[in-house]
Amino acid sequence: LDHKELLLHYQPQVNLTNGTILGLEALVRWNHPQKGLILPGSFIETVEAMPLISRLGRYVLDTAMTQQEEWDRSGLKVRISVNIGARHFLSGSFRKDLEELLSVHESRRQTPERMVIEITETETFRDLLLVQEMAEFCRDRGFFLSLDDFGTGQASLTALQKMPVSEIKVDRGFVRRILQNEKDRAIVASLLAAGQMMGIDVVAEGVETEEEGRILVGMGCRWGQGYAISPPLSPEQVPGWIGSWSPPPSWIDGAVF
Ligand code: C2E
Ligand code: CA
Ligand code: CA
Repeated sequence: LDHKELLLHYQPQVNLTNGTILGLEALVRWNHPQKGLILPGSFIETVEAMPLISRLGRYVLDTAMTQQEEWDRSGLKVRISVNIGARHFLSGSFRKDLEELLSVHESRRQTPERMVIEITETETFRDLLLVQEMAEFCRDRGFFLSLDDFGTGQASLTALQKMPVSEIKVDRGFVRRILQNEKDRAIVASLLAAGQMMGIDVVAEGVETEEEGRILVGMGCRWGQGYAISPPLSPEQVPGWIGSWSPPPSWIDGAVF
């Protein structure tokens, strides 16, 4: 952070059948002067165990907001999701960060609904009351809340119903096994059904192959993200990608809605 070696890449989230862009997920990378681009898998866990996660989260929010304003000015209106570590989300400093960033990025006040905060339920849902309080705080400031890696941790459907959550992300683990394992397919189907009945969008993450996408579409899954659609892109690559993507024919044909 001090050496300004962190940057964000953006992975598209799309409507699997008509190609509409839902948004972009901001994913942090460390551009190490000797080692090159390092993925978060090798440092985020360490950072999440330290108070430093709050500084990282603030940096990511700030950078994503600046990027969104830049794209706005060039006519590209797109929603951005950011990942916020549990420790940061549940701390008092998160409120302060959101308030301060909102006042710095004055334009956000008009369109905060295009900024989504992703929290992983595994870590965050240890203290339900506090999560609920923070979720309401975010909603009152106009942010959307997304539950990441859903289905892997503590969050129950009851919690979903109590919380102002606008989106759940089906963990990559379920998507990966969707072809071979009936039980994983059943979990995905029940999340899709719950989402539909509660008015919560369901995004399948880690859609790696055309086949996975086709099965998901056949199950009524509308939104997806993954290598079969696009890897995370540098900010420079995003506008070109958005103009050129369309879903494979098997996804368009398989739509059940
Ligand atoms: P995540 O939030 O579940 O993000 C999705 C991860 O899956 C990303 O890895 C993405 O590049 C990868 N991915 C996307 N499509 C596919 C696919 O089709 N197949 C497979 N196998 N993987 C796919 P990435 O960028 O390495 O990030 C890893 C994790 O690090 C993220 O998982 C997130 O939990 C965390 N992370 C990333 N950026 C931030 C950040 O700014 N703040 C915090 N607190 N955590 C972050
Ligand atoms: Ca995420
Ligand atoms: Ca995830």
